[in-house]
Amino acid sequence: MEWVAMFIDYHVHTAMSGDAKGELAEYVEIARNRGLTEIGVSDHYHPEEHEYSMSYEELAEYVKKVQLLKKRTDFPVKLGIEVDFIPGLESKIERVAKLKHFDYVIGSVHFINNWGFDDPKYISEYQKWDIVELYGTYFSLVQQCAKSGLFDIIGHLDLIKKFGYEPKADMTDVFMNTVKVFKESKVCVEVNTSGLSAPCREIYPSKAFLKICFDNGIPITLGSDAHAPEDVGKNFSQSLKLIREVGYENIARFTYRKLELVEI
Ligand SMILES: [Zn+2]
Ligand SMILES: [Zn+2]
Repeated sequence: MEWVAMFIDYHVHTAMSGDAKGELAEYVEIARNRGLTEIGVSDHYHPEEHEYSMSYEELAEYVKKVQLLKKRTDFPVKLGIEVDFIPGLESKIERVAKLKHFDYVIGSVHFINNWGFDDPKYISEYQKWDIVELYGTYFSLVQQCAKSGLFDIIGHLDLIKKFGYEPKADMTDVFMNTVKVFKESKVCVEVNTSGLSAPCREIYPSKAFLKICFDNGIPITLGSDAHAPEDVGKNFSQSLKLIREVGYENIARFTYRKLELVEI
């Protein structure tokens, strides 16, 4: 039987995101050695100043750097970006998302009212929430993120589970409503392996959630969320197993914001 036709990591951070290390060229070499077929870099951009984000001025340097490497290497490299979705700042996001040269734009929710809920520094804040309510609030932001029409891919879909705070209620309706919005907004969902290294010990999204995506025809991309070159493609065999179990036979690939489905 045919093995992996395309194996693509679209979510890696270089030293240009404040919390990551390594140059893109190192990422590319590791991707090649690990048998990946394409890599996309997605450094981090917050529409307002943030310690883990490139500034608007640094963006030009980032784009130039990636374009230069694209020309120098024979390995397929894509220029992406991971942008924080913050409601009310859509116009600031738009001026970045609409810049030419990007192959894809990932929209991610990392903040609930200014609370960086995925940052271990602020974990105590979970105590103040009813977790069912927290999930509802988080997924309404994810829905707004998709509806904004600014993004191609929704990053780490159920990141809110990162520290293992589980809602004591069935969330199926919330998941189904969210996927309905994805379908209307024509966005992809990212299957992100970094959750396996977090306290939740599970890929983003969960199998049940991914199944709802599959049943509704939502395309997927693959991402490791590597913050160091050695993490490129990390745990992708588990991703592959999961997506196959759910039923996926294709993943999405992007070129200048145009989606193409390729076999896995
Ligand atoms: Zn992220
Ligand atoms: Zn990321």
